[in-house]
Parts: sequence; structure tokens; C-alpha cells
Amino acid sequence: MPDAMDRNQEYAEAFAADALANHKGRLQQRVGRITCANLDCGDAIHPARTALGAQLCIECQREEEAAAHPGRIGAVE
Ligand SMILES: [Zn+2]
Repeated sequence: MPDAMDRNQEYAEAFAADALANHKGRLQQRVGRITCANLDCGDAIHPARTALGAQLCIECQREEEAAAHPGRIGAVE
């Protein structure tokens, strides 16, 4: 039975593989924005979120979701 350390390592390897796939994918096909669509912000968007089609940086996304869903805290990163 795998212990917590094995699971952490598996997660880290999967995360690295995903990040690499996202990076490679981003070179061929950009589905999201690399900078925030909020003109007052313009912050860089994490490549993994760009690959998922993000239009806003995580802070603006959180603010938008907080405004859309009062009482809910946080956003899926
Ligand atoms: Zn932003």
C-alpha cells in the first residue's frame, strides 16, 4: 500500500507532466490569454490556467466569482 510520500511523489510527477504538456501545447495552440483581460489589471496568467482557457488572472477571477456567488470563498486554481 502506498504511503503518503509515494502519493506525494506521484502527484508531483503528474503535476510536472501536466505542466510540460501545457507548456508544449501552449506553443502550438493558445486557448486562453497570457495576460489578464481586465484592462485595469493586465497581470500575467499562469500558463496552466492559460491552457485551460483562462481570460482573467487568478485575483480577478476570484473577485468575479466572489461577485457572482456571494458567500462562496475561493476559486478553482
Ligand atoms: Zn487580473
